[in-house]
Amino acid sequence: MIRIGFLFFCLYANGILAQKPLVEAVEDKGGYRIEVTNPSYLPVSMIFNFQLQNLRVDGGVDTLVVRPNSRQTVHRLWAVSPNRGYSFRYDYTYHTGDYRVRRYDTAYVYELPFRGTVPRRVIQGYNGRFSHTDRAALDFDMPEGTEIHAARPGRVVEVINNNESGCSDPICMNFSNLVRILHRDGTIAEYVHLRQHGTTVKIGQKVNNGDLIGYSGNTGFSTAPHLHFAVYQQRFGHRIFLPTTFRTAFGQVILVQGKSYSPQKSE
Ligand SMILES: [Zn+2]
Repeated sequence: MIRIGFLFFCLYANGILAQKPLVEAVEDKGGYRIEVTNPSYLPVSMIFNFQLQNLRVDGGVDTLVVRPNSRQTVHRLWAVSPNRGYSFRYDYTYHTGDYRVRRYDTAYVYELPFRGTVPRRVIQGYNGRFSHTDRAALDFDMPEGTEIHAARPGRVVEVINNNESGCSDPICMNFSNLVRILHRDGTIAEYVHLRQHGTTVKIGQKVNNGDLIGYSGNTGFSTAPHLHFAVYQQRFGHRIFLPTTFRTAFGQVILVQGKSYSPQKSE
C-alpha cells in the first residue's frame, strides 16, 4: 500500500503573525488527519486545497477557523478503496482573525490613544486621499516619543518593534512598528508607526483602557512623526475598517480631518 503525503506550501498569509499556524498530516487508520496548531492569541481563518488520489475529504473544504492557542483536527482524509494505495498533496491559505465576525459593538465609545491637554491634530481622517482611501483610519500629528495608551480594553495579539525607520514611499509599508489589540467583539485596533523598541506590552497581555502600550514614532510608510489608529474586522483576504466614536474634552465625537482633539480640557 502506498501512502504518500506532501505538505505543499502556504500560498498567502495576511497580517504579520509572529506565531504562524503549524499544519501537520498525521497518519490515521484508513487515511490521514490534517491537524493545525495555532499558537497565536488570534483566531486564524484557513482554506485548504487538496489533490487526492483514492482519498476523500470529510465535510468538504470550506473556510475554517482555528481558535487561538489550540490544536484542532480540521480535515480527515479517508481512503475510498482501502486496499489500493492512496496519496495526496495540499496547500493552504491563511489569514489572521476570524473571517466570520460581522456584528460588533457599534455603540462603543473609544478613549483617545494619548493623554493630556495638548490637542493633537488629525492630519488624515477617514477615507483620506494620501493613504486612507476606502478605510476608516486616523493619523494623529504628534512628536516622536509621545505616550500611546490603549483606546479600548482587549488582548495584545501582535507586537512589532524592531524596525528602525520609515519613508514616504509605500515600499516602507511593511516596516512599521505596531501594536494590535483584539477586543471582546472580535474587532481589532491597530496602533502604527511606533518608534523602534517603543512598545511596552507583550503578545497575550490583557490591557485596560488607558494602559500605556508604547511610544509614537515615524516607522514604516510615514512622511512625518504621527500615530496611525484604525479598528477593523478581518475578512478572508481583506479588512473592513470601522468608524469609531471617541470621548474627547468636548464630548463624544467622530473625529474629522484637520481638527484637533485632546482627552482633557486645559485649565
Ligand atoms: Zn494612516
